[in-house]
Amino acid sequence: MCPDLRPLDGKVAIVTGAGRMRGIGRAIALRLAQDGAAVAVTALARSPVSLPGHEREAGWRGAESVADEIAQDAGRALPLDLDVTQPDQVRSMIEQTRRQFGRIDILVNNAGLALVSGKKNLWEMEDDEWFREIDVNLHGVYHCCKAVAPVLIEQGEGGRIINISSLAGRLGQSQYGGYTPAKFAVIGLTQMLALELAPHRVTVNAICPGSTDTDMMDGTFRRTGERMSLPFDAIKEGVKRFIPLGRQADPAEIAGVVAYLASPLSAYITGQAINVDGGILMR
Ligand code: NAD
Repeated sequence: MCPDLRPLDGKVAIVTGAGRMRGIGRAIALRLAQDGAAVAVTALARSPVSLPGHEREAGWRGAESVADEIAQDAGRALPLDLDVTQPDQVRSMIEQTRRQFGRIDILVNNAGLALVSGKKNLWEMEDDEWFREIDVNLHGVYHCCKAVAPVLIEQGEGGRIINISSLAGRLGQSQYGGYTPAKFAVIGLTQMLALELAPHRVTVNAICPGSTDTDMMDGTFRRTGERMSLPFDAIKEGVKRFIPLGRQADPAEIAGVVAYLASPLSAYITGQAINVDGGILMR
């Protein structure tokens, strides 16, 4: 690639939840690396038996596989196992990234967890299901932002925080458990932190993907199908009727918006929540 087409040369990024083969996090990590950033590729450690069939068949090794892909393309990557709900692990991620790459410029809070409870009404949920969904989707973002903000301030060269919320964080939908309230709260956190970090030229924005073709979304379709006694394919195809552009997003399309928000082109955008949903929500 022509050097002047690499807007993130010399920058260092952290992407959470980036270890799944079909995930948005992997697409973000690959895209930021293509744009020139060194990337800490972080993922929740998973036992080999818990991997989906397509990952097992491919010999997938989570964050290490993504880091290998980046290295094969002459990029720089650091694979790290990380649970975003554990503040000590989050602090260690920040320290290891600085030790390896010398600085941090971009944090992408992508890790998320949908419907551990299955599709249930609120009053049918177990408390621990509710708290787990809030913990990963909201407290995980809190821990990572809290740990990176002092680094960005100390460096004194601005920075970018990009939080992956959801269409479910802009529009109430039934049977989304703790996921919807947490994703709404991520937008509130984004606005608050954007104001707090604006004097330091750190922008903070959220992206709200609509239905995106990943394992997580397939899981949601499967649980919806079980609840409605409909086959998976009927649900997956049926959803497209509600999307003006008539299809799910490809993870690379979400990564493209992250790349824009990480780039110098977006320096004057902060505190925003940007829908990337094929036209479902127009506000
Ligand atoms: P995914 O399940 O592939 O990715 C989520 C990642 O978060 C996984 O790698 C998972 O291991 C990781 N994770 C879960 N708990 C974690 C923890 N405690 N610590 C660290 N990592 C953890 O799903 P995805 O579809 O790629 O979702 C990525 C992000 O996009 C999520 O925040 C999700 O809520 C959001 N999102 C997805 C869609 C969609 O349609 N796929 C729509 C809107 C928003």
